[in-house]
Amino acid sequence: MTEIRLRLDESELVACVACGLCLPHCPTFRVTGDELKSPRGRIAAMRAVTEGRRAVDESFTDAMDTCIQCRGCEAACPSGVQFGHLMEDTRAALEVDRPAWRRAAETVAFRGVLPHRRVLDVASRALAVGQRLRVVPEQLGLPELPVRAPEPLTADPDPDVYLFTGCVMDAWQRGVHRAAMRLMRATGARVGLPTAGGDCCGALHVHAGRRADAVRLARRVITAFPGDAPVVVDSAGCGAALLDYGRLLGTSAAADFAARVVDVSTFLVDRDLPLRPTHHVVVVQDPCHLRHVQKAHEPVHALLARAYDVRATADDGLCCGAGGAFSVTQPELSHQVRERKVAAIVVAAAGAPSFTVASANPGCAMHLAAAGLTIEHPAELLEARLGPD
Ligand code: SF4
Ligand code: SF4
Repeated sequence: MTEIRLRLDESELVACVACGLCLPHCPTFRVTGDELKSPRGRIAAMRAVTEGRRAVDESFTDAMDTCIQCRGCEAACPSGVQFGHLMEDTRAALEVDRPAWRRAAETVAFRGVLPHRRVLDVASRALAVGQRLRVVPEQLGLPELPVRAPEPLTADPDPDVYLFTGCVMDAWQRGVHRAAMRLMRATGARVGLPTAGGDCCGALHVHAGRRADAVRLARRVITAFPGDAPVVVDSAGCGAALLDYGRLLGTSAAADFAARVVDVSTFLVDRDLPLRPTHHVVVVQDPCHLRHVQKAHEPVHALLARAYDVRATADDGLCCGAGGAFSVTQPELSHQVRERKVAAIVVAAAGAPSFTVASANPGCAMHLAAAGLTIEHPAELLEARLGPD
């Protein structure tokens, strides 16, 4: 094993007073009961490695790899420990020690596919054909992809707001963007789209510890949204990544860009949006990157409640176990975490003849759909109840 040095922010590390208040909010601790799979245990291990009291061994790497990076602990911490930053920095340091096959596979996915729209589209069509031929493992939890490329989105002239479209989300769930654009237009907005290169935000790269790649992508994204119009995002994970560009790039231009980023429900909630109410039950799943990171989950509930019988889960927004590529890299733990989430959703829907789950993050939506739930994006649910234009 290569000798790895962690260079973590000492002030962030020592901010943890080991009180343990975050433990009930950690999905991996809830499932395993293992201190090393809790935020407190992980921080203690990071600190021990940083201070040279502990080596980076397999148990350390496992403790870090089994973190879903949901940041439920960060939201619960009374001492303001920036756990997300600590884990991102740790993952970046561990990246050099990954097995060669894993680094090669990640390089293909993160450098060769995600940032290249045409390659991603071809790969998506190939996956769709593979699904029809039943050669794509169902355990991957992918939605049924369209064999034909979806119709392109059209931008309005002289836009006063942009929609961030992303990479995988645009290739696989463009219908959500279409719904978001229709809702935004119903409020009178003129919606623009990014120029070339404004797709992949680098969220998955940051998650995987590939910071240099994420920085390159962030620079590309910023130039694809000229001017100062708001940048509306309908994927919680992408929104969280875009909001962190100031820290990632460390420039005032990046911080200015991040200040323009807003989740689609936050954008819509105070605007006039004609909606036709129904008694259908919608259980809202709060994606971690919307609730714990952006702290922008309440507008989703408020908006949906104007059209549906909205229910919330009673689990303080505990993670569903999707976590970027977590469901692929840690399938067993991811499924155990998901079981708890599904149980909380079923309890919330009690008494309803049928229900739909609303999820504002494509990763969570795919992960929960693979467990048999009916999932829609809040934008799709709202569009279905939009009054006459
Ligand atoms: S991360 Fe925060 S809540 Fe958790 S043990 Fe440390 S100080 Fe307590
Ligand atoms: S980010 Fe989530 S999984 Fe990781 S330690 Fe914090 S609560 Fe646990």
